[in-house]
Amino acid sequence: MELFEKAMKRLQDVDIKPSYQRVKVLEYLMRDQNHPTADEIYQNLHKETPTLSKATVYNTLRLFEERKLVSTMSADRVETRYDLLTEGHGHFVCTKCETIFNFPYTFKNEYEDLDGFDIASEEIVLKGICKDCQKK
Ligand SMILES: [Zn+2]
Ligand SMILES: [Zn+2]
Repeated sequence: MELFEKAMKRLQDVDIKPSYQRVKVLEYLMRDQNHPTADEIYQNLHKETPTLSKATVYNTLRLFEERKLVSTMSADRVETRYDLLTEGHGHFVCTKCETIFNFPYTFKNEYEDLDGFDIASEEIVLKGICKDCQKK
């Protein structure tokens, strides 16, 4: 199945009307695994879809977040980054090539001294130099 069709099906599964622009945004997220920012998504999609506005990209991402299609992370940077994987995972940020890697991580929801707190999200960010950059 084409990625575009897969994206369309995924939207229908969560009851989002699959307009062309929404499908394009989701398709982009399925292709780019490097946790893009809304602006990066817009810059890339705008080239092939000139009718797409920045506001549409932001609104679409907000909708995806509400329907739990994407999760957000900041990796310690100012801009929010979007992530298709919503299951618990941590991030490793390479300080050299700036790639953000996913690794499996289980959200435990229990921490000493936070008894009775309602924890809604958690962000695990490790930093260092990735394998490839160490070889260079
Ligand atoms: Zn690297
Ligand atoms: Zn991630």
